[in-house]
Amino acid sequence: MKRVVLFDIDGTILLSHGAGRVAMEAALVEQFGTAGPSSYRYDGKTDKLIVRETMRLRGFADAEIDARMPAVLSRYLENLLSALAGGGRRAYALPGVPALVDAVEAADDLVLGLLTGNVVAGARAKLGAVDIAFDRFVVGAFGSDHEDRPALPPIAQRRASELLGYAVPGERLIIVGDTPADVHCGRGVGARAIAVAHQVIHEAAISVGHRVRRIDLDRLREIRKRSVELIEVSLDPAAMIVSVGHIRLQRDGL
Ligand SMILES: [Mg+2]
Repeated sequence: MKRVVLFDIDGTILLSHGAGRVAMEAALVEQFGTAGPSSYRYDGKTDKLIVRETMRLRGFADAEIDARMPAVLSRYLENLLSALAGGGRRAYALPGVPALVDAVEAADDLVLGLLTGNVVAGARAKLGAVDIAFDRFVVGAFGSDHEDRPALPPIAQRRASELLGYAVPGERLIIVGDTPADVHCGRGVGARAIAVAHQVIHEAAISVGHRVRRIDLDRLREIRKRSVELIEVSLDPAAMIVSVGHIRLQRDGL
């Protein structure tokens, strides 16, 4: 039975120098007259949840937010495409990721997929900006499928089952992401999680004695427990993995 590897996009596959945030803030200003609090964190959120939470913080009611949601997302996508095409905000794939994506795609026992808060058109645009073809990911769940991230793993599970022709158990899903939201969203279906570490987590994990391991397909295949692990792919060209058991990821506090 195959394992389905579901990659997050922002902070996991690529960085886009804030192109997504710039695009969203401009769309929010256009539709609501405010971009929301500058301290609001986008990471780990779906696109729709970003709109809802930032505008709630600015006093808008859900009915108003829902009414303007399609216009915001439409404008966001236009802004995103121009931001990604602009010279100053070039997106780039994180070190080690294209090779890992190639390897997962080529492996007979693994299925390449996405699980991201991006709406599907945004996911396609961001991946295209780093020359990773969206269509290579044969299973996906997106921010356009549901506003709440924990609702996405069951959607991916259903699509994987349809693709493979048998019921894929939740424990066969491996979610790879860069935030606590990624790591915890699959709990309801028993998915495994691997957290991509930014340098602050990587160093903190090592400093408290966690093992450091190299990313490879064997690592994806051998994950059996519902544990959280950290992969360093963002800043260390050696692409190391840190095995941390049940550590709670708290990027601000670690
Ligand atoms: Mg992310």
